[in-house]
Amino acid sequence: MEDCIFCKIANGELGTAMIYENEYVAAFKDLNPQAPIHILVVPKKHYENVLAVDENDNIIAKIYSAINKIAKQEGFYENGFRVINNCGKDAGQTVMHMHFHIIAGKTLGEKIV
Ligand code: 5GP
Ligand code: ZN
Repeated sequence: MEDCIFCKIANGELGTAMIYENEYVAAFKDLNPQAPIHILVVPKKHYENVLAVDENDNIIAKIYSAINKIAKQEGFYENGFRVINNCGKDAGQTVMHMHFHIIAGKTLGEKIV
């Protein structure tokens, strides 16, 4: 996808520091962190959002496997964390390349659910 910022970041075109990376997934710090730890986990391949994931595609498992590794690597495995995915207009998705926010590093207040 031309002009997709997360495609460019995930595929190393912008020289962004990676927190974790494998063949399928990249993770990097959010530009505008909402907690002491705020990491974005994205597929290297472009998906607009979770609605683009086919039932035979295991990319979500790969993302959660990466989250597990990142939690251990970054030291918030024991204390816990929150994963947020915004899908589409009503959820306020602003970057149209599927991404999962990991929020951690403090007691997380307000819960919507
Ligand atoms: P959304 O609202 O779509 O769920 O989240 C988009 C997130 O991407 C926001 O938290 C925003 O701060 C982050 N973001 C937007 N552009 C960039 C960028 O160029 N680099 C990084 N690292 N994060 C970005
Ligand atoms: Zn993209």
